[in-house]
Amino acid sequence: MKAELIIYNIRKLYTSVEKAPVKGYSMSRIQMIPNAFIAVNDGKILEINSGDFKNYINFSTILIDANHKICLPGFIDSHTHLVHAGSREDEFEKLKKGVPYLDILNNGGGILGTVDKTRHATFDQLFSKAYKSLDTMLLFGVTTIEAKSGYGLCLETELKQLKVMYELNRKHPIDIISTYMGAHAIPKEYEHNKKTFIDKIKDDLVYIKSSNLTNLVDVFCETGVFNIDESRDILQKALELDFKIKLHADEIDPLGGAGLGVDLGATSVDHLMAISPKDIKALAQSNTIANILPGTSFYLNKAYANARSMIDQGCAVSISSDYNPGSCPTENFQLICQLAANQLKMSPEEILNAVTVNAAYHLGLSDKIGTLEKGKDADIILLDIPNLAYMFYHFGINHVTDVIKKGEVVVKNKVIQRGRK
Ligand SMILES: [Zn+2]
Repeated sequence: MKAELIIYNIRKLYTSVEKAPVKGYSMSRIQMIPNAFIAVNDGKILEINSGDFKNYINFSTILIDANHKICLPGFIDSHTHLVHAGSREDEFEKLKKGVPYLDILNNGGGILGTVDKTRHATFDQLFSKAYKSLDTMLLFGVTTIEAKSGYGLCLETELKQLKVMYELNRKHPIDIISTYMGAHAIPKEYEHNKKTFIDKIKDDLVYIKSSNLTNLVDVFCETGVFNIDESRDILQKALELDFKIKLHADEIDPLGGAGLGVDLGATSVDHLMAISPKDIKALAQSNTIANILPGTSFYLNKAYANARSMIDQGCAVSISSDYNPGSCPTENFQLICQLAANQLKMSPEEILNAVTVNAAYHLGLSDKIGTLEKGKDADIILLDIPNLAYMFYHFGINHVTDVIKKGEVVVKNKVIQRGRK
């Protein structure tokens, strides 16, 4: 079969060849093809090989010379809080001076400050801000993200966020997997009546399900937010309604959120800075992904999750940005990968598996993306570096020059090509 597009002259092509979830020692295995080409047809990968590609060319084939760059699958950022209003740089200054977070919260800041701004923002304001962030993510090589609601804490604004994500998914090259996270915090109006708020979330889940805007539910299981029993209560209702589930788990205190996630069959448990040794063992025995967010540890100047121990004990790890205005305000996904190398002590191979194949797995996208192989979506990035390890060494800058999404060139020489979607 002839190709619509061929990318050739690739110095080295790296991709996972492992079946997801990629666990433990297997995370250090990837494939490298030197002097490679990729032939693409109808948005999907037709062939990957080294050497001659003449058989795939006809008069209409578009040829892209990779100029000895390296090639990777598009990055998948599998945990973001993309859609929100406002920013919190004033809070950053206070945090640095040692003002306690609770004081900030009580003065109208923190997560409830973002909730207030997001409730008052129009659809267009939320859309424009998030679209701009997606552009930056795309330039850094991200081709798919997960994005959570959770800055509404009332059905109306949660739906507004989810509808913004739906529209962004239609109009921006990056694919967005949406998650409902009405259980992100306790809103002021339910401050003294958490039980009623939980019942309200459970009722809202029925409506959210019927809206068809998302098939995923996340809960913030943490001291001062939702405890283990409350998290289980909400998540069991979500499971009854046939949602897939995730948890923000064991970020500050070792409550056992990761273990709860394993018990309930969560697709991922996220953060895990305070995970217990018992729950690491439980995770390793499961297909739940340990989704680690090193950008949050960096920004808040807190301990990093023990990814090394998790991988060494056989867990499947993914790495995400947690992009949000309060604890990780950056869209630079390569920096997140570099923190995984520098602070989590993960190898280049482990990180590649973490941000491609394992991320795709817990978002339910394994059959479409996460690896460069025949039949999968042609989500491809080119980087102007000599080898994979160099990406983690030369940090803080953008190495991605070109991004191909479903076979279309959406970034060329670091410039976004408009007109798609
Ligand atoms: Zn989060």
